[in-house]
Amino acid sequence: LAAEEGFDLDDVDGLGDGSHAPLPVLAVVGRPNVGKSTLVNRIIGRREAVVEDKPGVTRDRVTYEATWNGRRFKVVDTGGWEIDVLGIDAMVAAQAELGIEQADAVLFVVDATVGATDTDEALIKIIRRAGKPTVLCANKVDGPSTEAEAAYLWSLGLGEPYPVSALHGRGSGDLLDAVMAALPEAPPQTFGDAAPGGPRRIALIGRPNVGKSSLLNKVAGEERVVVNELAGTTRDPVDEMIELGGKTWKFVDTAGIRRRVHLTAGADFYASLRTTAALDKAEVAVVLVDASETLAEQDTRIISMAVESGRAVVIAYNKWDQLDEERRFYLEREIERDLVQVQWAPRVNVSAKTGRHMEKLVPAIETALEGWETRITTARLNAFLGELVAAHPHPIRGGKQPRILFGTQAGIRPPRFVLFASGFLEAGYRRFIERRLREEFGFVGTPISISVRVRE
Ligand code: GDP
Ligand code: GDP
Repeated sequence: LAAEEGFDLDDVDGLGDGSHAPLPVLAVVGRPNVGKSTLVNRIIGRREAVVEDKPGVTRDRVTYEATWNGRRFKVVDTGGWEIDVLGIDAMVAAQAELGIEQADAVLFVVDATVGATDTDEALIKIIRRAGKPTVLCANKVDGPSTEAEAAYLWSLGLGEPYPVSALHGRGSGDLLDAVMAALPEAPPQTFGDAAPGGPRRIALIGRPNVGKSSLLNKVAGEERVVVNELAGTTRDPVDEMIELGGKTWKFVDTAGIRRRVHLTAGADFYASLRTTAALDKAEVAVVLVDASETLAEQDTRIISMAVESGRAVVIAYNKWDQLDEERRFYLEREIERDLVQVQWAPRVNVSAKTGRHMEKLVPAIETALEGWETRITTARLNAFLGELVAAHPHPIRGGKQPRILFGTQAGIRPPRFVLFASGFLEAGYRRFIERRLREEFGFVGTPISISVRVRE
């Protein structure tokens, strides 16, 4: 058994993987203290187990890579949300649901010495609903005397219970054989084309004449990097490698900028297609705006496209050399009025003509990418949510007051949150939560998404 610490499921994009083929994913599900972490550590072959001898040790969902009989797969330990006043059942159910959703097969762990509890029954309902191949592990069968208890678990209707001692290793070979039979060879490919460790990808976008090609020429200078000299990059004539602030960046789809197509009819349509294509390939969008002119509807539309694409966003106000006091005043007013929805985006005031503040571009891009990849642990998030809900409960509607039970960050790039609530959360309240999340954790330069799942 070989193992290395992996990444969360949402990061299965080739970055932490060491290989380009997606691996099948096994979710290990069970109520606290049945021995999930002990079992995961056994599966991944790690001795220095992260197990503590108390129930509900705070731990986030973690993914590891494992090998059995020459086949590689990922193991997600869904265990260990902090148990608090929100109610253990809601939390165990929520974590299991998220873990199962993203897995190809489920390993359901029950403590054979305790038997099936109500929480176990609740988990079984969720597993059934998901309809994924499931293997039942009857854990803590340390010796023959407990085997009979394991057999009782046939009654759960999940097929054969595999008696295992996660602690001593007993029965784990048979269990893993069953797991391998349940896992598909290779799951459908779901992630993008990011070359691990390759240059970060920037889309330089903005309406015609804001100064995109001027900016590109300014930053590219004479030091344009020859693409195929860089290891791990594919030659794509529409992209350009540019060195900035001591690093190489891939400006995607620059051919579209340099070509300077001047179509009379359909120019808008062409520009919008180009923007979409560039955003598709990029991690961060630098939206260029002509600061010397009134913000156009097309400017705000392009900014919205960048936000909706889920990319990190930096806004660069160009042609700053042409601004007088009066225009500066009105620009600030326009930004407050028309760009409230992207107040979180770092802003740089530049001039592609004079080179003003070009050096501020890279730090802004780096800040935005950092926000884009920020992950908040479940424990921190729920501590934050607990305080927030206590201080600012959802308004009562129709005699009912929806409560947030529990939350988790389901992914990054951009950060995505799932909140489990006892009722529908109004848009205003969701915006309030987003605002407070940003105040608390930053998320500069990144859109964040919050979805709510209602539990009756
Ligand atoms: P989790 O909360 O489901 O991840 O459970 P843990 O892996 O943290 O285990 C909870 C407790 O059960 C720990 O004290 C483990 O040492 C113990 N445990 C786990 N597996 C076994 C086992 O096979 N036999 C026995 N006797 N104890 C076990
Ligand atoms: P694009 O259509 O977005 O690629 O815009 P261009 O780079 O072709 O620029 C459009 C016009 O704006 C050209 O005449 C540029 O010389 C001018 N321009 C671009 N950047 C600046 C700037 O920072 N200051 C001033 N004064 N003019 C600029």
